[in-house]
Amino acid sequence: MPSDPTPGTLYLVGTPIGNLEDMTFRAVRILQSVDLIAAEDTRHTGKLLHHFQISTPQISYHDHNRQSRTSDLVEQLRWGKAIALVTDAGTPGISDPGYELVKACAEAGISVVPIPGPSAAIAALTVSGLACDRFVFEGFLPAKSQARRARLEILKSESRTLIFYEAPHRLRQTLQDLRLFGGERPMVLARELTKLHEEIWRGTIDEAIERHGDLNPQGEYTLVVAGAEPTQPLLSEDALKAELQTLISQGFSRSEASRQLAQQTALPRRQIYQLALSLPEKN
Ligand code: SAM
Repeated sequence: MPSDPTPGTLYLVGTPIGNLEDMTFRAVRILQSVDLIAAEDTRHTGKLLHHFQISTPQISYHDHNRQSRTSDLVEQLRWGKAIALVTDAGTPGISDPGYELVKACAEAGISVVPIPGPSAAIAALTVSGLACDRFVFEGFLPAKSQARRARLEILKSESRTLIFYEAPHRLRQTLQDLRLFGGERPMVLARELTKLHEEIWRGTIDEAIERHGDLNPQGEYTLVVAGAEPTQPLLSEDALKAELQTLISQGFSRSEASRQLAQQTALPRRQIYQLALSLPEKN
């Protein structure tokens, strides 16, 4: 591992999502030693730099200037500068600026090094108590209600755990729209993670709606929603017959084989027995 910062390298630096103690030693060292920090909001990052006594110059890199800034930063990296990219909170690129710059660097053969730190999505998922072996990060749903509902319609049968970011003023509407998944679906509201008023609320979509009925949501929210219950896979008639044949060749009677397969597949025993009767007699 070369000692960093390496000239001509872009560092993607994760920063705290609330609690400054979540800043890593490595993040501080990299921000102290690069030539330039590209920040989503230089004033906001200025406070973080001040706290850690970092005096590296900053340049802004946000939604409104990233098109022109990307080529400028790539040029500076080509000239050998070491640059760190940070956003207001969490990991750059995750519902934040970063993707275009990383893509441009990758295309230009410039090294991009991760300096991992917090991300609200992963923090919320891992404390949710919902399955976190497989998950889908959806970021912010579309703001317009028709587009939002269309997106949720697509996600309705997704069986992996779903993670959404949401602005507090849209939370109640989003919860209402989530009813499309069925009000009984378990969900978790992770609010103000790592901050003074941190709250991890667990319940169902209907309970979340009830709870927020006359509450004015405030603070930062990440929503974690359980995936859809997997539906019984549709078994073809041929697959069922093959399974019956295997059981019969193991010595089970047609009736016994049907009973076993009905138990395994939750299909009606009578339907399976009809299939068993249609199998050719053993020679
Ligand atoms: N890049 C960031 C990350 O890695 O988490 C996310 C930036 S995105 C613009 C901001 C959204 O993240 C917020 O609207 C909220 O949904 C979520 N978020 C950020 N900080 C949070 C916190 N402390 N607690 C809960 N959710 C948070």
